[in-house]
Amino acid sequence: MSILSTYWRVLQFLGGERRLALILAFANLALAAAQFAEPVLFGRIIDRLSSTEGAGRFPTFQELLPLIGAWVGFGLFSILAAVLVALHSDRLAHRRRMAVTGLYFEHVLNLPLSFHASVHSGRLLKTMLDGSSGMFGLWLSFFRENCASLAALVFLLPLSLFLNWRLGSLLIVLLVLFGCLIAFVLHRTHALQQSVEQYNSSLAEQASDALGNISVIQSFTRIELEANALRQIIDHVLAAQMPVLNWWAVAAVGARASATLALLGIFLLGTWLNLRGLATIGQIVTFMNLATMLIARLEQVIGFFNTLFLQAPKMQDFFKVLDTVPRVADSPKAIDPSRLHGRVSFENVSFSYDGRKPAVSHLAFEVAAGETVALVGATGSGKSTTLGLLHRVFDPQEGRVTIDGLDIRTMSLQGLRRNIGVVFQEPMLFARSIEENLRVGKPDATPAEIALALERSQAADFVARQENGLATIVGERGRSLSGGERQRLAIARALLKDPPIMILDEATSALDATTERQLQEALETATKGRTTFIIAHRLATIREAKRIFVFDHGHIVETGSFDELVALGGRFATLAKAQFMVGARPEDPETGGKPPKPSP
Ligand code: ADP
Ligand code: MG
Repeated sequence: MSILSTYWRVLQFLGGERRLALILAFANLALAAAQFAEPVLFGRIIDRLSSTEGAGRFPTFQELLPLIGAWVGFGLFSILAAVLVALHSDRLAHRRRMAVTGLYFEHVLNLPLSFHASVHSGRLLKTMLDGSSGMFGLWLSFFRENCASLAALVFLLPLSLFLNWRLGSLLIVLLVLFGCLIAFVLHRTHALQQSVEQYNSSLAEQASDALGNISVIQSFTRIELEANALRQIIDHVLAAQMPVLNWWAVAAVGARASATLALLGIFLLGTWLNLRGLATIGQIVTFMNLATMLIARLEQVIGFFNTLFLQAPKMQDFFKVLDTVPRVADSPKAIDPSRLHGRVSFENVSFSYDGRKPAVSHLAFEVAAGETVALVGATGSGKSTTLGLLHRVFDPQEGRVTIDGLDIRTMSLQGLRRNIGVVFQEPMLFARSIEENLRVGKPDATPAEIALALERSQAADFVARQENGLATIVGERGRSLSGGERQRLAIARALLKDPPIMILDEATSALDATTERQLQEALETATKGRTTFIIAHRLATIREAKRIFVFDHGHIVETGSFDELVALGGRFATLAKAQFMVGARPEDPETGGKPPKPSP
């Protein structure tokens, strides 16, 4: 995206308040015209004075009054317009900044988990803050200065030719030369600045990554290493920034010199022309004033381009995120299925993350409403992907997933996901109160419903023990609670949602065996009467499942109950043997001790 199209897009974001924006733009034009009129009137007054002086008399007040009146009038108008423009530009810019921040945030929340897996949250946050504050600055400077400056340079500068074409031409040539110098500097610094921004983003990412893992850093005594790593990035930022600054110093010196040279040039040419009767003293004064004003304007425009170049990469990052389209989106005819029964069917479903290596292929199974099935298999065998397909983290490239016979792609995402509760391995709590975390499941839950959910997830006791009860703040990601407590809250949250379908993706794998056993009861209540998918590493967790799907390299290779699969002596039996170090279920004397069949 080129700088100008980026800028154009920044201006388009004013669209929400187009009318005010247009009024402000016109006010800027008027402002520029008024400012142009001032030196012209001033020159006229001087000419009037010098012509009467040449005639050996003083001008009468009546002769000067119209000119002075117009001058004062334009001056007052300029001041008033400038104040109004500044006031409203400020307000407009603030409002739009909040609007785009909200837009970005909502958009990012809608992006698929696969996007969030690939972009660090620290980077996303930095992009949001930098992008919106960069746009804020551009809008503000556009209305406060640049719009008027551009108008002055584009429309008013050529008008100076009508005042005196010789002086006008000199002024134009000088400004063009000056403009070229700046364009050259911009050109040299553009690529350099982009690398600075990249280092800045790495800085944000590194810092937020470190802060997010502070306990690892402290326990592994990595403080010095992490601090050094950050310092290294800082060195890179500075090393990349310095050459840019050098170029800007060149530009600043150029600006000062051009201002002086322009005044000197106009004065010399003006005097020479005056001696030949080709320019009046008033015109010389007018042009010197114009030159001062226009050079200030040009400097402003250049300063603006400077900011634009500095900010453009940030805004381009911002737009890049905004342009990321969620791969999974509501189809235009999507329907809200309201409450489903929960009969799930996978029909020849295949999915690949990269379009080459399949993560799951040709899955075909049906799960009755209310049934509990377990998914087991080595890490990376495709279990999470399968369930991701069920709640549309992504859509299959082949085949279809139906619930109650309806293709889930015909349902609205909201409608579908309202029907599916997910308890993840990492409970993921907000740094808010316990109650707010629970209400994520059901915003309008009554206190009785919350109490019941806590009871059933066996969280009531520990919540009651908290100093502030339900109002206790759980810390970032729920850090102030133990793993088992966090997971109980996550289950309570899913219970409040009360969905017909429940997914437990290694919900208890991060817990120790004792805590897991304590949670077993909570999980059983959570899944009663619902279609449930359990992914578990510890096979003890899934002993009760009527059906177990054994995954291997994206395929379901065995299906059956625990006993059937053990008797089959295939992959599952091997897994079971490895975990229990006996042939079958440990605490079951009837089947225990039976030697497993050798796996093929
Ligand atoms: P499981 O849950 O059984 O451990 P997954 O469904 O997570 O397995 O992974 C299945 C395969 O897909 C693995 O090969 C894994 O590397 C790959 N995979 C999982 N998530 C992603 C992702 N976000 N991007 C690319 N590949 C992925
Ligand atoms: Mg997984």
